[in-house]
Amino acid sequence: MPRKLAAGNWKMNGLRADLTQLETLAARHSDASVDILICPPATLISQCKDLLFDIGGQDCHTLMAGAHTGDISAKMLADAGASHVITGHSERRMDHGETDAIVAAKSQAAHAAGLVAVICIGETRDQREAGTTLDVIDSQLAGSVPDGAGAYNTVIAYEPVWAIGTGKVPTLDQIRQVHGHIRARMRARFDDAAEMRILYGGSVKASNAADIFAVPDVDGALVGGASLTADDFSPIITALEAS
Ligand code: PEP
Repeated sequence: MPRKLAAGNWKMNGLRADLTQLETLAARHSDASVDILICPPATLISQCKDLLFDIGGQDCHTLMAGAHTGDISAKMLADAGASHVITGHSERRMDHGETDAIVAAKSQAAHAAGLVAVICIGETRDQREAGTTLDVIDSQLAGSVPDGAGAYNTVIAYEPVWAIGTGKVPTLDQIRQVHGHIRARMRARFDDAAEMRILYGGSVKASNAADIFAVPDVDGALVGGASLTADDFSPIITALEAS
């Protein structure tokens, strides 16, 4: 069984004053039996690096350096103190036109810089209603997860687009089906796929976390809104520890 992972994605939220939330969280979970990852905005990474959590970026460029105004490379994230980076979040795919090929290249750049890539995949509402969820998952896994991935450098996050920030959550059976499918596809490609963490993401909160964490092949969660305060994120971490 892989060690469980509670990951928080702060998105474009967080000023220096909000670091007190992380200090509170660190004090509450100093002896956590699960891994805790916080992905703050890039401006806060270097100030988070001394906390007991793993720290991640939310995106990286495909290249390590160059004339790309406003972008951040995986090497820069590592230099600032990050150990992880989210790639292929649906907000990046939608807002910035990121294709599977770009996500794979970003994930490869993350690996080359020594970072763990948290690769996000997930279907839209239309795709779910059309019954094509598993086809979408297949094509995103094939296109976004690069060769050279393994349990040590890759986490897969299943995040149905329609569940992100909406309060809507798939049924436990739908989560079980997709996570089992992802595990099977990863087993077909990577020898250590049993150890590769597969996170669920999309409107996870204290009230639904325990049920979601009881689903087979759910190795933790990628949490957006409910990771912003210690009071919201802490019970999710506790539920994961109890699972
Ligand atoms: C996310 O954006 O990765 C996410 C899961 O958001 P939320 O928890 O707010 O749905």
